[in-house]
Amino acid sequence: MSGTTTHCPYCSLQCGMVLTPGRGGRTLEVTPWEGHPVSEGGLCRKGWTAAGLRGHRERLTTPLLRDRASGELRAVSWDEALDRVADGVRAVQAAHGPDGVAVFGGGGLTNEKAYQLGRFARVALGTSQVDYNGRWCMSSAASASNTAFGIDRGLPFPLADVERADVLVLVGSNLAETMPPAARHLDRCRANGGTVVVVDPRRTATAERADVHLQPVPGTDLALALGVLHEIDARGAVDTAYVAARTTGWEQARAAASGWWPERVERVTGVAADEVRALADLLAGCSAGRGSAVVLTARGAEQHAQGTATVLAWIDVALALGLPGRPHSGYGCLTGQGNGQGGREHGQKADQLPGYRMIDDPAARAHVAAVWGVAPRSLPGPGRSAYELLEALGTDGGPRALLVHGSNVVVSAPHATHVAERLESLDLLVVCDLVMSETAALADVVLPVTQWAEEAGTMTNLEGRVLLRQRAVAPPDGVRSDLEVMAGLAQRLDAPGEWSTDPAVVFAELGRASAGGRADYAGLSHERIAASDGGLFWPCPDAGHPGTPRLFGERFAHPDGRARFVVVEHRGPAEPVDAAYPVHLTTGRVLAQYQSGAQTRRVRDLPDTGPFVELHPMLADRLGAHDGEPVVVTTRRGELKAPARVTSTIRPDTVFVPFHWVGANRLTNDALDPASRMPEFKVCAAAVRA
Ligand code: SF4
Repeated sequence: MSGTTTHCPYCSLQCGMVLTPGRGGRTLEVTPWEGHPVSEGGLCRKGWTAAGLRGHRERLTTPLLRDRASGELRAVSWDEALDRVADGVRAVQAAHGPDGVAVFGGGGLTNEKAYQLGRFARVALGTSQVDYNGRWCMSSAASASNTAFGIDRGLPFPLADVERADVLVLVGSNLAETMPPAARHLDRCRANGGTVVVVDPRRTATAERADVHLQPVPGTDLALALGVLHEIDARGAVDTAYVAARTTGWEQARAAASGWWPERVERVTGVAADEVRALADLLAGCSAGRGSAVVLTARGAEQHAQGTATVLAWIDVALALGLPGRPHSGYGCLTGQGNGQGGREHGQKADQLPGYRMIDDPAARAHVAAVWGVAPRSLPGPGRSAYELLEALGTDGGPRALLVHGSNVVVSAPHATHVAERLESLDLLVVCDLVMSETAALADVVLPVTQWAEEAGTMTNLEGRVLLRQRAVAPPDGVRSDLEVMAGLAQRLDAPGEWSTDPAVVFAELGRASAGGRADYAGLSHERIAASDGGLFWPCPDAGHPGTPRLFGERFAHPDGRARFVVVEHRGPAEPVDAAYPVHLTTGRVLAQYQSGAQTRRVRDLPDTGPFVELHPMLADRLGAHDGEPVVVTTRRGELKAPARVTSTIRPDTVFVPFHWVGANRLTNDALDPASRMPEFKVCAAAVRA
C-alpha cells in the first residue's frame, strides 16, 4: 500500500484511511484503507474531506498573545508565549494556590496527549482541577458500566458482533448519520434475519433503516426500559440460571420494575402499550441463550440528568435476559468523540489516574506516583467535573487561570453564554488549537498545535481497539504538538521528571502507568499496533498477550465476578415543560458536521448550513411557522433565531436543534447527573414562536 496508513480525525469509529501527500506536501489525498477491519474501506463525507483543514487559510501557525493595552492578539515567538504562560501560572498560583490553575482536555486528543495532560496537571501544575469534554459525551454510560460490570469499555465486543444478533436495540443513537460506515452492521443484521429496533424521539436516518421505531418523549427512555423489564418478567422470560450464577440484586430491580405495566409506560413515554409489549416479546425470545440480542445506547439516552440511571435500566434488561458475555449479545455504548474511549482511561478526568484508576485509591496513587517519580502524597486529590470546573472559573475559591487543549467549550458547553462569561472573568486563558475557535478567540494566549496527519499517536475506538495514527506530513512551520507545549511549560515550571515529546515514548510510559489497572495497556506499543491486523484490544497486560476483543465471557470485573442489577427510578427531565415553556427541546448532530464544528465548519466541501429548528407540521401550524422561515426558540437560559425545518419525522411536542454552531448550547440545561456529572443536553423546556 503506498501512502501512510492512519485513522480519521473525527468520530469514535476511527475509520482507516491512507494519506498521500501531493504537490510538495502542500496537499494531501485521502483514500479509504481497504480491508481495515473497522471501516472495511468505508469513509463518510467527513473522512473523505478531512484533508480540507491542511493548509486552510485560517490555520494558526504562530503563537498569539493578547496585548494588554490594545486588547488585540499579536503574533509572538514560542519562547515569548510559553514564558507568558509560565509567568501567568506562577502568578496565579502564588496568589491562589495550586488549584488556582485548571486544565481542560478533550476526547479527541490522542491517548498520549490525554495521558500527558493528566500528568502535567498533577505533577507540573500540582492542581486537582483537570477534566475534559468527554464528561459531556459518554460519562453516563461509563459510570453505569463501571457500576454494573466493574469496568467501562464502551463496547465489550467488536461492533461487527451485532450483525449476528437476532434483535438489536439502539437507544438514542443515530449512527447512520453520526458514523455512516457503521450502519452496514444494521443492514447485515437485518439481512441475517435479525430485527433492528430504534428508540428515538425523531425518525432519524437510522430509524428509517430499522424494522421498528419507537418514538418516546425526550427524557423517558428510563421508563421505557422499566416497562420492558416488567414485561419480560411477566412472561417468565428472565434467565434465572444466569441471574443466579452471574449477577446480584435481581429481586430489588424486579420490584422496582413491577409498577411499570405497559399502559403506565405509554402514559409517561408516549410509546403505545402494544409497542412496549412487542419489544418485550422480541427480547424474551432471546433470553437464556435461545437467541442473541444486543442493546446499545448513545447520547440520546445518556445526556440526561438521569443518564446513568437510564443506562443502568437498559443494562438491567440485558442482564435479566442473560445477554452480557454470550455470543453476539450484550450491552454496549456507542462512544462519540474520536478518542472518547481512550480519552477517559488515562487520567485527564477529575477523579481518575491512568489505567482507569480512581485518584482517591491509595494503591492507585502509589502505583502511578512511582511511574511518575514523585511521592504519592504530592498528587492532588479529586477535582471538579467539567461543567462544575467551568462554572467555578473566576469565582471565589475557583480557578483563575485555565489551559484548554482540544476543546471548544464556548460552543459545546451547556448554558454556553454563562460559560463564556466565566472564561472572560479569568486572569489567564490559554487555548491550544488548530484554528481560531470561538474559545480561542477569548484567550490571552493562543498556541497553534499540530493536527492528526502531522503527528503520530494512538486512539482507542468505540470497541476498545487501540489504533495507531501515523504521521503522514510535516506540520507547518511555527506549529508544535501539544506534547511539545507541555514539555516547554514543564521545563519552565521546573517540573520533576522527563517530559518526552516523542509519542512512542509517552505511550510506553502510559503503558507502565496503566499496568494492573482496569484499562491495561502494558503490553501495547506503537510497533505492535503497527504490525497488528487493524489494532489491538485492551486489556493487553504483556507483550505476548493477544489483546481482549470480548469481555465478560466468564466473569465480570467486580471482585466477586458478578454483574450488578441496580434499582433505578424514573424522575423525568430536570426541567419539565410547563405553560411558559411548553415544548421539549432536544439537540444532536448532522451528517456533515462534527462536535463544535471548529474543524468541519471550515472544510469547504462540507455543507455549513448553520443551525436550524426542526419542528412538526402540527406545531408549525399552531405557531404560524413556515419551512425555511425564521423561528425563535427560547429557554430559561437563552434564545436562538434560526430557520424552521418543518418535518413530520419529529414528535409534535418536541423541537430539535443541531449543536455544531453557536446557539444550541445557549439554550441547553446545565442540570447534572449526580453520578457522572453529565449535563442534560438532550432535553429541556422551550418556547417557540414564529
Ligand atoms: Fe469514519 Fe467517523 Fe471519520 Fe466518518 S467521521 S470517516 S464515520 S471515523
